[in-house]
Amino acid sequence: MRKKVLAGNWKMNLNSKQSLALYADISAALSSNKEFDFIVFPPFLHLKELIDSRGFIEIGAQNFHPELNGAFTGEVSVSQIKDIGIQYALIGHSERRTLFKESNSFLKQKVDAAIQHQIRVVFCCGEPLEVRENQDPVMYVTNQLKESLFHLNSEQLKTCMIAYEPIWAIGTGKVATEEQISQMHTAIRNELKSKYGQQIANEISILYGGSCKPSNAKAVFSCENVDGGLIGGASLEPTSFVELSECF
Ligand code: PEP
Repeated sequence: MRKKVLAGNWKMNLNSKQSLALYADISAALSSNKEFDFIVFPPFLHLKELIDSRGFIEIGAQNFHPELNGAFTGEVSVSQIKDIGIQYALIGHSERRTLFKESNSFLKQKVDAAIQHQIRVVFCCGEPLEVRENQDPVMYVTNQLKESLFHLNSEQLKTCMIAYEPIWAIGTGKVATEEQISQMHTAIRNELKSKYGQQIANEISILYGGSCKPSNAKAVFSCENVDGGLIGGASLEPTSFVELSECF
């Protein structure tokens, strides 16, 4: 059966000393639990030293380039993150989609590169505000999944997680309503079921992300088909991250 997941996206925050201190603080306060996966996604620069002192909290990459090597100035390749022991990566975060223009077809290449390198994918999807207000957000999100993720076979897909993150809720303080969250997560589970069957659909953890913090997390995590959270701002604060783990 699928696990509960608490993941922290540290984005472009924290220097080396602060990253190590945050990792140490949350490791000391949380305890390893078979039903949970804890994952943090620090900036690239700190990955190696965190991997070298890693405990039960997994370390993932926020990004990578799907090519193995070559003339991609400023990029870090899938083989380079694998080489230092990275086992998880975010793909499709809305900041990559909007600020760095990553398309569904490019994200599909990243998914394939991650799978080939045995890196577990946390695939982010979510609609912008104009789609939430004027179009069909479920159709928009399922299309993101169909175009970038659903070409995988069952064995490959089983290694992935999905994070639903409505773009209008990321870093804005606006959380989707419980009804919106349950509706989207159930729609994603149903899409998984119609493409891969009930058994595989039940094995995939679907996380919610978007202004999730200790004050609202109990309500979010109790929504139908929510298996955990991908947390931005509140993951930078050790007490908040630990309190979030108590909201399941
Ligand atoms: C995120 O960046 O994935 C995120 C959910 O950010 P925040 O929690 O700050 O909205």
